Amino acid sequence: MALIVHKYGGTSMGSTERIKNVAKRVAKWHDAGHQIVVVPSAMSGETNRIIGLAKEISAQPDPRELDMIASTGEQVSVGLLAIALQAIGKQAVSYAGWQVAIKTDSAHTKARIASIDEAKVKADLDAGKIVIITGFQGVDELGNITTLGRGGSDTSAVAVAAALKAQECLIYTDVDGVYTTDPRVVSDARRLNTVTFEEMLEMASLGSKVLQIRSVEFAGNYRMPTRVLSSLTDPLIPLEEEANSGTLISFEEDTHMEQATITGIAFNRDEAKITVLGVPDRPGIAYQILGPVADANIEVDMIIQNQSVEGKTDFTFTVPRGEYTKAMDVLENSVKAHIGAGSIVGDSKVSKVSVVGVGMRSHVGIASQMFRTLSEEGINIQMISTSEIKISVLIDEKYMELAVRALHKAFGLESA
Ligand code: ASP
Ligand code: MG
Repeated sequence: MALIVHKYGGTSMGSTERIKNVAKRVAKWHDAGHQIVVVPSAMSGETNRIIGLAKEISAQPDPRELDMIASTGEQVSVGLLAIALQAIGKQAVSYAGWQVAIKTDSAHTKARIASIDEAKVKADLDAGKIVIITGFQGVDELGNITTLGRGGSDTSAVAVAAALKAQECLIYTDVDGVYTTDPRVVSDARRLNTVTFEEMLEMASLGSKVLQIRSVEFAGNYRMPTRVLSSLTDPLIPLEEEANSGTLISFEEDTHMEQATITGIAFNRDEAKITVLGVPDRPGIAYQILGPVADANIEVDMIIQNQSVEGKTDFTFTVPRGEYTKAMDVLENSVKAHIGAGSIVGDSKVSKVSVVGVGMRSHVGIASQMFRTLSEEGINIQMISTSEIKISVLIDEKYMELAVRALHKAFGLESA
């Protein structure tokens, strides 16, 4: 007997028919003698719909009120799933985040989980109940409902699994695992049986939409074995088969020995690039540029500062495209005159393409192979950044798909 956490995404919870299928699948695991906690998302489209209602009334709704609204989608799903389980003879109980005390900070719409009080859940499990907990939401110190950022149910599930010291966290979703790249861009992309936690973290932060990045951080911090698998299979397939399907995020690098140097190609279409020109080259300048940007809660990704010429330098960085206008405003209004910069220019039509793989640590020539491939396609590289296990380039968004396809082929990632 093991304690296992299941997470079901919006598509899996998308209709009452699908919820009944989820109930059958969960019951199958419970029948096999496991203790099961389920963390579902809202029914697909629901979070967008209710946030849309708020935006019909105000362009900039108060984040506290937005969380009050956005969190309700998950509350509907947990109740429906409990009813579906009860309808097939299972004891099940649903809880909102605050009821099992998923405590977060007060950063509305992007709160972080601080602690989970697992005692109540344990008692229910020991009493033979299946426990269903809302994804995406928590409660802050003052009792306000918070949400964890879009896609946050993944993080809720892994955090709950970690708090309960579950054996495994199973993320059921509408894809059957993690692929070498998005199969919608490269049709012969291959499903990975395992991916290391570090690679998954890079892929999630580089634009792979399979898991919310914070969920991967949690999995890493608590070494929680997490598996991404399909919720679209027959709910009654043999448990053994299901338990070994999908992609396991592992912590063993040696399981990767047999694999290629590169594990995947990640991309993020929605980037924007900003350059502050003619910046005086003196201590504190990077801070004076990026401090106000950070204060405006804008995430900065790639950063380049050029060698200075005659005491002046250019400073370029990227931000998510959705924050481009806000970042430009901050720079024009609170930075430019203050630091005596020449001018500020930007391009909101750039994309980032990255090659990822722990094998990079022990192989040379990955960067040159990447750059050769892009040059053969006539693609200009605007910025480059690297870590131990990834190389990213910023390119014109027009060439993004071409770049992904060419690199996928060049590194031999296609399925056999
Ligand atoms: N329902 C939330 C969203 O749509 C959380 C989630 O699905 O993970 O972002
Ligand atoms: Mg999701």
